[in-house]
Amino acid sequence: MKDFHQKSKQELMSILNVTSKGLNNKEVQKQREKYGLNQLQETAKKTTLQVFLEQFKDLLVIILLFAASISMFLGNSESPIVIFSVVLLNAILGTMQHIKAEQSLNSLKALSAPTAKVLRNGEKIEISSKEVVVGDILYLDTGDYVSADGRIIENYSLQVNESSLTGESESVLKTDDIIKKDNVTISDKKNMAFSGSLVTYGRASILVTSVGMDTELGKVAELLENTKEKRTPLQVNLDNFSKKLAAAILIICVIVFGLNMHRGYAFVDSFIFAVALAVAAIPEALSSIVTIVLSLGTQKIAKENAIVRKLQTIESLGNISIICSDKTGTLTQNKMTVKKIYIDNKILDYNELNPEKPIEKKLILMSLLCNDAITIENKEIGDPTEVALVNLGDIYNLDELTIRKNYPRLDEITFDSERKLMSTVHNISEKTLMVTKGALDVLLSKTVMINSCDGIKPITPKDIENIEKTNEKFSKNGLRVLAFAYKEINTNKSITIDDENNLIFVGLIAMMDPPREESAKAIADCISAGIKPIMITGDHKITASAIAKQIGILKQDSRAIEGHEIDKMSDKELKQKVENISVYARVSPEHKIRIVRAWQEKGNIVAMTGDGVNDAPALKQADIGIAMGITGTEVAKDAASMILTDDNFSTIVKAISNGRNIYSNIKNSIKFLLSGNIAGILSVLYASLTSLPVPFAPVHLLFINLLTDSLPAIALGLEPNKKEVMREPPRDVSTPILNKTFGINILFEGLLISICSMTAFHIGLNTGDKKLASTMAFSTLCLARLIHGFNSRSKESIFKIGLFSNKYLCIAFSLGFVLLNSVLLFNPLKIIFEVSYISLRQILAIYGLSLTPFITIQTYKSLFPESNTKTTYYKNLLEKTIYHQFRN
Ligand code: ATP
Repeated sequence: MKDFHQKSKQELMSILNVTSKGLNNKEVQKQREKYGLNQLQETAKKTTLQVFLEQFKDLLVIILLFAASISMFLGNSESPIVIFSVVLLNAILGTMQHIKAEQSLNSLKALSAPTAKVLRNGEKIEISSKEVVVGDILYLDTGDYVSADGRIIENYSLQVNESSLTGESESVLKTDDIIKKDNVTISDKKNMAFSGSLVTYGRASILVTSVGMDTELGKVAELLENTKEKRTPLQVNLDNFSKKLAAAILIICVIVFGLNMHRGYAFVDSFIFAVALAVAAIPEALSSIVTIVLSLGTQKIAKENAIVRKLQTIESLGNISIICSDKTGTLTQNKMTVKKIYIDNKILDYNELNPEKPIEKKLILMSLLCNDAITIENKEIGDPTEVALVNLGDIYNLDELTIRKNYPRLDEITFDSERKLMSTVHNISEKTLMVTKGALDVLLSKTVMINSCDGIKPITPKDIENIEKTNEKFSKNGLRVLAFAYKEINTNKSITIDDENNLIFVGLIAMMDPPREESAKAIADCISAGIKPIMITGDHKITASAIAKQIGILKQDSRAIEGHEIDKMSDKELKQKVENISVYARVSPEHKIRIVRAWQEKGNIVAMTGDGVNDAPALKQADIGIAMGITGTEVAKDAASMILTDDNFSTIVKAISNGRNIYSNIKNSIKFLLSGNIAGILSVLYASLTSLPVPFAPVHLLFINLLTDSLPAIALGLEPNKKEVMREPPRDVSTPILNKTFGINILFEGLLISICSMTAFHIGLNTGDKKLASTMAFSTLCLARLIHGFNSRSKESIFKIGLFSNKYLCIAFSLGFVLLNSVLLFNPLKIIFEVSYISLRQILAIYGLSLTPFITIQTYKSLFPESNTKTTYYKNLLEKTIYHQFRN
């Protein structure tokens, strides 16, 4: 069979059995069965069994099992059986945690999976890229990634970057002509588009010829490694900390082992005790809890319309101090309606045009021809700016499809936000005309004539003044203005941007795009959270300023500037002035990078939104690049760390609030784990150093580890959101999570729990029964740690946030409480867990002592609420940094 590039479109369509309506469902099914899904193969995933077995890879667990086996061999069977069971249960819990974390990461990936636009059953639909099959007609627009290999069948100045295949970084201009040559290289197959390349300009449709591993990319690609999430800074931080902590704990365990031996305990018993202490004290769950909480957090954020592509992003959300946002569609509704028209030196309302007048009809026709939007059965498809023009045509009973059929498009230069113009070519009244629409300032500079009811004449300074004044008037009312012009061309060759000059001005169409209802509140929330919102838009400065004022971004002392003013500033100057600028208008994507950098150099963490292909570098430069899910290109989404599925600014603010909450929950969870573990170590150390008997049996330590290390810690990570986090300034990146205050708090809380456990131990010892003493110490430590979960929920007193408002913690606590009491009260369990009989009074003592740290800590929190000091600090900070610019 001849190569695809050597075939005509018709030949290929008939070979692949495709009609101009695309494939139907049955054929899609057939092709999928034949060629499989359009995806590169991945290396095999770990099975559940492998994950389970990996839980035993921990050296300490191996040592523990080994020691328990020896102990069993020596005839001591009860304790080792419990050790085996607890280790097994821990491994099951670990496996479940791993699988849960993996599932959330997978669903995260699925959410941000790339999509493709195809023609099927005569309808253009969007599907997941992996569902593309051979024979599909695939549409490519600027900013798309090509998702399969295919022969170009319709081409509008398509340019593609094929560097992933050829290494060539320059874009390649494509064609839909047949290429006759044999044995051509990939770069010479100019009438084909290849999977993995990126559309940098123009648009096209291609007939898919190969998918998945059969594509050129599939042939060169190695098996995709199951992309492993990179560890987040917090995880790395904790891993390092855990290693140091583990070393310290091991030293303590060696000391305890030595002391026990010295006091005449058997070698095996001392050894098992030391190892059990290490297993219980080393917070091995720390890192996996962070992963689980972060990945569950991504799901929560996704439900609120923001897809976080990397776990790391969640952590950084809380650091954001600047949000640079697009205007159109993000802060505004992107529902445009034409309000005013300027034509023939008159300002008209949208419904006052008279199609009987040739010049007025001409403007409507131009607005429908230089336009890609359509409305079918009340469904609007396309750019809202252009949809507004189609709706304008409807008012005058002019149907866009009929008009476009009567005057077919012969050529076009697509709109791009840098040029801010769009042009199309049509035969009208036996003339070939190029219709151009776009931003007035750009278009006016290319205009030489003006069309009025008196005919066409050179444009005068007076005309220009009138047009500009009208534009200013429209813009001041927040209207978005499009200018229209045309010219006759007498050429057969394709038009280029050099043809966009010597134009004849016809009129202006101004449309309203009201701010989203929620924008003003979201902006206010940002400011009170110490975050500065900034508007960056391609629109006119006056329009942008009008909207920015309405929603509270632009206040008295902040300024609006235009892109060309940035061009005149050096990076240093921009850095000096950046704090006073809240609106950037008529910017191009390069300006965005400079603005982000200027803020970053001032030590800020910057979030930046973007949608176009040229926005990708700025999205990458920003600390958090945010792409638009609805209007954004695949390239922007690929470059971003977060995608907004509703393109809405307020979603960013919600995500930040979630991010801040998640971080604070993780911090609380770590605090809970570490303070509990320290309580255990301090108790054992105390007993060893004061020559008291060993306070816990190894099974006690393992039981506590099982009950308190996983479930309550995860439950703390799922603590409901607190509004207060948005009344605090952004977290400073340089402040580590494990700082001095945090350390002192942990130590203090651990000490408190330890004192209570040892008090229980002494009460037991006073009766002369060592086993009873150990039972009391164990149950107090266990219960106090479970109750301590409630202390760790917030900086505020539990009575302020509601005792039962974290239902997961209530469940984890209840489960632990029931299990502990079962061990204390049921005879068979008593034997297994080396627990002695205890009286009701002793049980009450245990309950009372376990509650003591809780009561102490809660009383302290009520007497010295941290939020007060925080509020004062926060007020001062805001006064100094943010508010002063608005107030002066
Ligand atoms: P933002 O950057 O906030 O999304 P924007 O949508 O106004 O704002 P661009 O899409 O870059 O930014 O548009 C810049 C200017 O280009 C607009 O002010 C308008 O004058 C013009 N413009 C927008 N859309 C079109 C279009 N489809 N055809 C021709 N000109 C357009």
